[in-house]
Amino acid sequence: MTIPPAEAPVHALWDDLPATEPRAALTLDRDVEVCVVGAGLAGLTVAREAARAGMSVAVLEGRRIGWAASGCNLGSVLPGYGVPVNDLIARVGVAHARELWMLAEAGGDYIRETIAQDAPEIAMVPGALEVSTTDAGERLIRWLQIIGGEFGTEVEGWQIERVREALKTRRYFHALHFPRAFQIDSARYLRALAALAEEAGAQIFEGTPVVSIDAAGIRKRIVTPSANLRAAHIVLAGNVHIGTSAERLATTLMPVWRYGALTEPLGDLLHEAITYRGSVHDDDGIDHFRVVGDRLLWASPETTWENKPERFARAIRRRIATVFPQLAGVAIARTFASPFGQTVHGMPQIGELRQGLWVASGFGRQGLNTSAMAGRLIADGVVNGDDRWRLFSPFELVWAGGRAGRIAGQFADGLTRSRSAAAGALARWRERAAARELLREERRSARIAAAQARTARAAQHFDADRR
Ligand SMILES: Cc1cc2nc3c(=O)[nH]c(=O)nc-3n(C[C@H](O)[C@H](O)[C@H](O)COP(=O)(O)OP(=O)(O)OC[C@H]3O[C@@H](n4cnc5c(N)ncnc54)[C@H](O)[C@@H]3O)c2cc1C
Repeated sequence: MTIPPAEAPVHALWDDLPATEPRAALTLDRDVEVCVVGAGLAGLTVAREAARAGMSVAVLEGRRIGWAASGCNLGSVLPGYGVPVNDLIARVGVAHARELWMLAEAGGDYIRETIAQDAPEIAMVPGALEVSTTDAGERLIRWLQIIGGEFGTEVEGWQIERVREALKTRRYFHALHFPRAFQIDSARYLRALAALAEEAGAQIFEGTPVVSIDAAGIRKRIVTPSANLRAAHIVLAGNVHIGTSAERLATTLMPVWRYGALTEPLGDLLHEAITYRGSVHDDDGIDHFRVVGDRLLWASPETTWENKPERFARAIRRRIATVFPQLAGVAIARTFASPFGQTVHGMPQIGELRQGLWVASGFGRQGLNTSAMAGRLIADGVVNGDDRWRLFSPFELVWAGGRAGRIAGQFADGLTRSRSAAAGALARWRERAAARELLREERRSARIAAAQARTARAAQHFDADRR
């Protein structure tokens, strides 16, 4: 992927986030201990932590900080990873999966503590609901036992009635409720993180794309169009934009564009439809939404090719109307999109590729807690030789299939959506059939009771007449 010019606009989800002056580009050759490529959430967390530990750190960002997915997402800080917990266990076993899960929890804690201590102006809205689009109560109980029992995460199972009390739709059945999950304005958090990294001594250069890297030897060479850098450690945190600077790594990530929209204010209609204030995502990974003031923030469609976000406004309106028919026809105030990097196994790429060359990438659609975790792990690896990143070794760099992989990815997404739609339709049909059967049963019982009452009354009259 090519790096677009530095003056391209920064994604701005919120009206009230003022524009900032661009930081200077790297114009003089330098020597540092740690060079971070990419100023998204992952890169800035590594930079802040390495600088806090006293290392000299330079962050090279091709455009502006948070220009990509990190500055343009729904801001839900969720537990775990973007892969289903049973897949994780199937791959590495329960004990290993538990350690990975706890690291991911620590990622969420990192964001919570950073905001509480250093950026208290950023609001944290608690709670996340993972809703099921099918009547899958048994699966829910199994997951509750694993996530709550084995992994020690705070989680509650919600019955259908409770879910439908909070979300007025028949589309959703049971849910897992994570009370410790929370939502933030991630663009604001990212800016705070950049300021904290700079406060700790890191230097951030914007408009400085890394075009090539020579990672052989103790002092590595990083080439940019305007100047070069030498560093003992390079951290590749460029996500899908890393491009030719790390070609082999780039081929292991499939870029997936996710599209989102913010509606116009919806007033009472919205508050009647959705009384839950945390975020909601379905267990198929299709819809993700939350209420922001009296607007709805919604992310759903995905493509493996870049498209203009405004072209998806209609598709998002359709998704909103599908889930909440009472909100059909809502006006969309703005749309946004960004690519995230999807690995073949669904887990992030975290670790040391060769001595002094690190990677923190591939966080998929769940990159807030996991990029914070990766930032901490890698900084600890660089500074203290901590090798907990090896827990991610089973998830190697796997070729993502190039162009054919993207075609297959788009096809698989379509398939998941149709499968989920069919399974949801079947579950709702079963629910309606069960309700109809219940009604029939009630009517039958009522008819029998009425007939019995009539017989009893007739018998009484008969007895009375005989007397
Ligand atoms: C619409 C949408 C909604 C989402 N919602 C959520 C959510 O609610 N919760 C959640 O957990 N996750 C969510 N995600 C996913 C999450 O945003 C990402 O996984 C995460 O932000 C990735 O962070 P990152 O630092 O790895 O990469 P990025 O944010 O992509 O940052 C990489 C940076 O590196 C720079 N770069 C790349 N290559 C170079 C180079 N060669 N030289 C210099 N600079 C370079 C880029 O310009 C970019 O700024 C969402 C994603 C999208 C698109």
